[in-house]
Amino acid sequence: MSVDDYLARVLSFMQPLPPVMVPLLEALGLVLAEDVQMPRDMPAFDNSSMDGYAVISGDLEAVPTHLRVIEDIPAGAVPRATVTRGTAARIMTGAPMPAGADAVVRVEWTDGGTETVEVQRTVAPGNDIRRAGEDLREGQTVLIRGTVVTPRTIALLASCDREQMLVHPRPRVTVISTGDELVPAGQPVGAGQIVDSNGPLLVACVQDAGAVVTHQGPVADHADDFRAVLQQALAHSDLIITSGGVSMGAYDTVKEVLGAAGGVEFSKVAMNPGMPQGCGQLDGIPIITLPGNPVSTYVSFEVFVRPALRTLMGRPDVHRPLRTATTLASFGSPAAKRQFARGVLDGFDDCSVAPVRGQGSHMLSGLSEANCLMVIPEEVTEVAAGSVVTVIDLR
Ligand code: AMP
Ligand code: MG
Repeated sequence: MSVDDYLARVLSFMQPLPPVMVPLLEALGLVLAEDVQMPRDMPAFDNSSMDGYAVISGDLEAVPTHLRVIEDIPAGAVPRATVTRGTAARIMTGAPMPAGADAVVRVEWTDGGTETVEVQRTVAPGNDIRRAGEDLREGQTVLIRGTVVTPRTIALLASCDREQMLVHPRPRVTVISTGDELVPAGQPVGAGQIVDSNGPLLVACVQDAGAVVTHQGPVADHADDFRAVLQQALAHSDLIITSGGVSMGAYDTVKEVLGAAGGVEFSKVAMNPGMPQGCGQLDGIPIITLPGNPVSTYVSFEVFVRPALRTLMGRPDVHRPLRTATTLASFGSPAAKRQFARGVLDGFDDCSVAPVRGQGSHMLSGLSEANCLMVIPEEVTEVAAGSVVTVIDLR
């Protein structure tokens, strides 16, 4: 199966999770599931954009001139007096304009007086006034469903009096690492054993994608053990991800158990690394089974699982940005497979990319060094140094 067909198959099991209400700051990074309107004009009132004096611009035709200061208006105050010819009110940035005044003259253009003020420059009517509603109007829709909440949109939501809002929630993901040979990081590693690196890798990837994650395992290659962990995970997950146990060998427990349960289909995907894949649904919960080799696991996460997670989150942008880069070295690529070679990308416009040294699907050295995946098309078998390749930018 082609990468594109398999991706479409994975995504066919995903739809945005039903919206929930969350407090303002918990919406950060999530997608709005409602439109948001302004409850009032913004600014709500005409106010000064400078520290200075609210004046009648017609009073400043011949400068310097002296005006009597009738009131002090700090931000947050409500002006009481009306500015009339020959007078001014001392006003601070953000304070409401007093009646009668039609302009602000900034303090730098005066002597800063508090009883009377000497004004040294003329100003046009409207000078340094921020008008009511010039930013946004009452009733105006300012954010639409589908918007990703950033720190910038948080400011707008707060200004709309929103203490909580409807969003697509963070998916709850269970990561299950499987393999008799695995020991959890930090525990003694005996003969023939290896550290479970896929568990922490996938946990980090899931968190990085904005979901919340539980890690189970490592689980031994015994059908009953795996079934028990799976059963538990089904009860409180929006997505289950497994690693290992889906190749062609004996003891490929994930394949054995899920194959028998039905609902999950296993495919050979025309890609390198990461050929053995599986996805489907069990009890209505989507499951994606990833191959065990750490680089295969990672590449599969990037190519299939991250877009799946972002679909569950209702994100409009499910894919990472692609770039083009000039490769600094030549390398081969398997025929009839899309290769995701690990590289170090340099620059943002005229990018160059250097393939990492360790390209084996078990090699964590090259994986940890890489900041991009070079996407080499199925029909290409040789990539020459100096040629332009497409890269998935992981930075
Ligand atoms: P499998 O897909 O179970 O046949 O595993 C393929 C390879 O990946 C084997 O060399 C496994 O030891 C290795 N592997 C499987 N799971 C993990 C894991 N969680 N962490 C590190 N390596 C793993
Ligand atoms: Mg295994």
